[in-house]
Amino acid sequence: MKRMKETIPWKGKSKGRRWMAAALALTMAFVAAPVTAFAATQTTQEMQAEVLHHFNFLEGSGAGYQLQKKPNRVEAIVMLIHMRGEDKEVLNGTFQHPFTDVPAWAQKYVGYAYEKGLSSGVSDTLFGSQRECTQAQYLTFLLRTLGYDDRNGEFSWKEPYALAKAAGIIGSDLPLRRFSRGDMVGESYWALNAKTVHRQSETVTGAAVVSRSTLKTELIGKGVFTQQVYDDAMAVYNQGPKQVKAVYLTFDDGPSTRVTPQILDTLDAYGVPATFFVLGRMVDQNPQILRREYQEGHKIATHGYSHDYKHLYSSTANLLSDIQKGNAAIDKALGFPYNNRVFRFPGGSHKKSQAMKKAVTDAGFAYYDWNSSGQDAASASGSTASEIVNSTISTIWGDTGQVIVLLHDTNAKKTTAEALPQIIKYFRDHGYEFRTL
Ligand SMILES: [Zn+2]
Repeated sequence: MKRMKETIPWKGKSKGRRWMAAALALTMAFVAAPVTAFAATQTTQEMQAEVLHHFNFLEGSGAGYQLQKKPNRVEAIVMLIHMRGEDKEVLNGTFQHPFTDVPAWAQKYVGYAYEKGLSSGVSDTLFGSQRECTQAQYLTFLLRTLGYDDRNGEFSWKEPYALAKAAGIIGSDLPLRRFSRGDMVGESYWALNAKTVHRQSETVTGAAVVSRSTLKTELIGKGVFTQQVYDDAMAVYNQGPKQVKAVYLTFDDGPSTRVTPQILDTLDAYGVPATFFVLGRMVDQNPQILRREYQEGHKIATHGYSHDYKHLYSSTANLLSDIQKGNAAIDKALGFPYNNRVFRFPGGSHKKSQAMKKAVTDAGFAYYDWNSSGQDAASASGSTASEIVNSTISTIWGDTGQVIVLLHDTNAKKTTAEALPQIIKYFRDHGYEFRTL
């Protein structure tokens, strides 16, 4: 494998910068896996978000859809009204509601939903705007939009999954553990193609008449969007996923009791996923924090068990058994076989022998280094938060649109946790998707 300083072009022209690049290359380890091997492309949910954006059903673009975030009740009710094709009524009318917790931009939508009986809030004075919308609630909204009625027993709002699956809105009737905006987008996308159900009150029997129409066709009929707009959106969708810029936040050496929870809070607040290269011996100490990483949708990968270079790198057998021991600690903490296949060499792979690297891949593991570093492990006295932010940005190598950021989440790395919001903002502002390895 070539060294990265040879394979990744340095953008600067001056000799000074070239020299600096060479000097940096000597002090840092870089991405060992070929960058092209994981060129990131849009996920299905991101493509579906683009389709809904075409119809003005979804704000944002690029990294702005925030598909990993949990949807709140306001976002859900606004999406529902879009899906019902009732925006014109909302914007041309005046509607009142009794709630004190509704953001300004959503006043009319919540007023409309309240007056039309679409949603009654969580109390006499609260809509519950910031509360999470659950998958069951959203599916219930969608099924009602398609014409199904839970009040006459066609389904239960607590268990809408089987009917939602039969209607083609979801692929499995197993409820999701974590319902995200991306899931809301996906379910809305499929609902557009689902058949609508109409009841005609004048029918003698009162039986439901299943229409041959789909929700999408009805929205076109109502003038919400045209057939042409629909065809354009689907043409983009059918071209397949576009390549995207992606950033992979990685945290090594945890989980720790003080810093990891703070990092998890920040990741949750921004709705971004990360990869945790955990140490088995830390997992044994803090299994509850590992479980939290898992439950909040992050990727767990192994950094081995001991982080003891002398032991690890004295033989290939030692290295492999340390990796397996690291994986076993993860499985034990989670209580089921997680079957992790991702590894990071303690200290990085750059000075390790080809034989060791081959042994790792032969054992079925992919290993990743990094091409951006917060350098939060660099000095014993510790870096300040702004130094960590600056290092993360200034050490980004290559122009591939794929950035793997190295950070640490041991108890000593308080400033890493402090730096994280700024780091996330930087990548978000520069149009990166947040991915896991
Ligand atoms: Zn480490």
